[in-house]
Amino acid sequence: SGRGAKDYLAGLNPEQCEAVQTLDGPLLVLAGAGTGKTRVLTTRIAHILATGRARPSEILAVTFTNKASREMKHRVASLVGDVAEGMPWLGTFHSIGTKILRRHAELADLKSSFTILDTDDQIRLIKQILSAENIDEKRWPARSLAWTIDGWKNRGLSPKEVPAGEGASFANGKGKQLYEAYQERLKTLNATDFGDLLLEPIRIFRESPDVLAQYHRRFKFMLVDEYQDTNVAQYLWLRLLAQGPRNLCCVGDDDQSIYGWRGAEVDNILRFEKDFPGAKVIRLERNYRSDAHILGAASHLIAHNQGRLGKTLRPQGEDGEMVTVAGSWDSGEEARAIGEEIEQFQRQDVSLDEVAILVRASFQMREFEDRFMTLGVPYRVIGGPRFYERQEIRDALAYLRCVNSASDDLAFERIVNTPKRGLGDATVQTLNGIARSARIPLMEAARMAADTEELKPKPRQTLRDLTQCFQRWSHAAETMKHTDLAEMVLDESGYTEMWRQDRSPDAAGRLENLKELVRSMDGFENLQGFLEHVSLVMDTDTGDADEKVTLMTLHAAKGLEYDVVFLPGWEEGLFPHQRSLDENGRAGLEEERRLAYVGITRAKKRAKIYFASNRRIHGMWQSSIPSRFLDELPDTHVEVVEAPAAFSNRGFGESRFDRIEPFGSTYNTPGWQRAQQRRETFTANSFGNGYSGRRGGPTVIEGELVAKSTANAASYELGERVFHDKFGYGDITEVEGNKLTVQFDKAGQKRVIDSFVKRV
Ligand code: ATP
Ligand code: MG
Repeated sequence: SGRGAKDYLAGLNPEQCEAVQTLDGPLLVLAGAGTGKTRVLTTRIAHILATGRARPSEILAVTFTNKASREMKHRVASLVGDVAEGMPWLGTFHSIGTKILRRHAELADLKSSFTILDTDDQIRLIKQILSAENIDEKRWPARSLAWTIDGWKNRGLSPKEVPAGEGASFANGKGKQLYEAYQERLKTLNATDFGDLLLEPIRIFRESPDVLAQYHRRFKFMLVDEYQDTNVAQYLWLRLLAQGPRNLCCVGDDDQSIYGWRGAEVDNILRFEKDFPGAKVIRLERNYRSDAHILGAASHLIAHNQGRLGKTLRPQGEDGEMVTVAGSWDSGEEARAIGEEIEQFQRQDVSLDEVAILVRASFQMREFEDRFMTLGVPYRVIGGPRFYERQEIRDALAYLRCVNSASDDLAFERIVNTPKRGLGDATVQTLNGIARSARIPLMEAARMAADTEELKPKPRQTLRDLTQCFQRWSHAAETMKHTDLAEMVLDESGYTEMWRQDRSPDAAGRLENLKELVRSMDGFENLQGFLEHVSLVMDTDTGDADEKVTLMTLHAAKGLEYDVVFLPGWEEGLFPHQRSLDENGRAGLEEERRLAYVGITRAKKRAKIYFASNRRIHGMWQSSIPSRFLDELPDTHVEVVEAPAAFSNRGFGESRFDRIEPFGSTYNTPGWQRAQQRRETFTANSFGNGYSGRRGGPTVIEGELVAKSTANAASYELGERVFHDKFGYGDITEVEGNKLTVQFDKAGQKRVIDSFVKRV
């Protein structure tokens, strides 16, 4: 080709070049945000290939997210062109772990076709185990055990290796034993969970040196991005693999370690030199991503952390614009202000692909989504479904749709057994049969079934209760305020309670989302109006717009970059998140601060921070005080901007953020106390991408019931002889509309639905 031999090195600075070209032996690139760590990794792959040191298949590269690995594949492809000999092993720990485990499944008592359970499946399996062990699931929720087991797996611990006494709090010390039972069940099912994808290979490597040797021969070079967020299991896995050729290159930034709550150990960075003697450490100090003001603000902020290695970051570009901080009255104004700014950027021909909104907690997204829908701004949500598509929101909406219209079958089917009421598939199938043959809505079929004997007494009673509830709620809807109604429905149906009982880490976030849903209804006149809005919003397909604003959590934004970054919700309790502070004290605060650092350093040209003086949290208005992180930003790089028109007349205090308090009070005053109270109530947690969208939507019942003629359904007469699939032959003793009372020869007298019998 016409390319120079090492064209790919052009444009790299000397330290980057060194990092690319130091191929032999362990190498750690320790450097701040935007210094080109990921770029070094990609170029390194190109260099290895160009110098013929390895074939693509002899390179292993680990990224933190699938998105990152796609991007790296893309970059590698553009650097080396189409390589005939295949691509490097390039993916997340999980995807590479899967690949390895499939090749040696038999060594883990699995078939290579093993399935990988998702969180839902995992929970279901654990429930079965708990019930087999007669453990009260109400006291010892499956999700809590799942969380414990995941924690062990993140630490690389098999059941036997769990230290005695750990997990003792679960089911009177049975945690470890249940873990063992769970692993056994997985094996019988020929299945693994996510944790096994690393744990099993670790075990195989340890127990079968020949297998490990095979990989030592294979992987001549290993590369790891975002090394600061590896957990112990990942670390052990890497260390085993790297024992061979020892050509391991890890890049990371201790200041961007943000997954401590999920078991990541920033200490892995500190251990690197110890575990890989002779390791070379290269630091990169030039930041190519962000303009100087942005970088200055971020560096100054992160300097408040004590537990850090410390490093220099030098901007390469211009000063650019200062980081802006704007206060708003409440979260609604915040969303309006950001929406307005985005429209302005649009008019200035800024590509929406270069605009991101990064939130601390996913419940914050709803207000932006609604705003974008109203404005017609295309957007995408990364790392989770859109607000109205989340499982808990769809469930709640289904309840409200049933209240609003008793003939909304899809909605009814979705919630008839959510929360679990013992109305299984068979019951739903019967209801569907009734509804179909009588041409009535499911709700009515349920009412009918409650009155007849097609079903067993227990489900009948349950259906009676449920349909009566709906009647009561629909009645209440005529007089009650729709937000109160919604709250009542979610409470009385047991739906809210279901998530309260749930100990999984995302349950609190789901409860928060439910509150946010009720809150969002406030803006509409009535239930009907709200539901119409939602169906329009859900229907608005911005899927094919070329350019979209990106909406995601700060956790999901790692490694990415945008021209314009909006950072809303910088308030005490939300950011730093109260739960991190409560559970992890100073370490928690420092992790939150690293998250703030990650957020600001995503921006190339503009970083815009917002806080609201009032936010509705858990359905209650809370006055909020600005985040302490705002006070930690340096004046030289930050300007407090006039609030946009929507909230310009609020008269914020003359100076910086500490005066901005909606009721004119400062710290140590009633406002502060209110904030403290709020902290107590605000314990919810909606970290990261913990949302598992419900798969598949409402259950679709397969297979029709035997078709029954409805044409003659109404024409039964007393004394007629009929046949019923379940009860056999009998004589009609009473006719009431489409309900018949039949004296069956064997089953005795039953009330049945006419379409379920046929004349004989
Ligand atoms: P993060 O810590 O956020 O993951 P990073 O250290 O991985 O950041 P990269 O994403 O690799 O940084 O690089 C940041 C930006 O700087 C990218 O747009 C990249 O193309 C650019 N960049 C990196 N090195 C150089 C260079 N030598 N010259 C010009 N631009 C560069
Ligand atoms: Mg990177």
